[in-house]
Amino acid sequence: MRLKLDGNYELLLNCSGKDRVKLLVNEFTRFLCECGEDDRFYRLHWSGDFFSADYARDVMKACKEIPEVRFWNFTRNFDKDVVRCIRRYKPDNLVQYLSADPCNVRRALQVYTENPETFAMSYMGENAAPFAALWKAAGQRSKIMPCPSNFKHNTVEYMCKKCRMCLKGKCVHFRTRR
Ligand code: SF4
Repeated sequence: MRLKLDGNYELLLNCSGKDRVKLLVNEFTRFLCECGEDDRFYRLHWSGDFFSADYARDVMKACKEIPEVRFWNFTRNFDKDVVRCIRRYKPDNLVQYLSADPCNVRRALQVYTENPETFAMSYMGENAAPFAALWKAAGQRSKIMPCPSNFKHNTVEYMCKKCRMCLKGKCVHFRTRR
């Protein structure tokens, strides 16, 4: 699996612009052809993240090309150029999460409160309490929803098929275990 992920990364890194958009569109089209009508949702970057602002832009453009599929994605890259590209190019069929944890939560909340129309929030930590306090202090009223995989032994991929909370942009807590 690691080899495959490394290979995908190399491919994406070594092309740009239209070529990279085409590569991504080909992958999304393959997915669309293979998935059932009820399963047209695609989590981007199962492993990995935006490695540049240009790449973020190309991902946004490729998602827009396949409106039949609903995408969601998590990023820990809060670089201002990446944020700017997402804000400018994010299509309606993509829910773009900021992925916060105890180390980056303040920066994530800053990006979120500056761009509430663009991003959804998620938090990964042993419990949601530290995040809940900051969330409330930032004036946010929406509920923090636990990812069902916090409580069950099923894999998150399996749970997503039933849950789909991330496709609605809910604020989600992922519990980490010691
Ligand atoms: S199970 Fe639900 S909350 Fe958890 S990642 Fe999947 S869609 Fe999101």
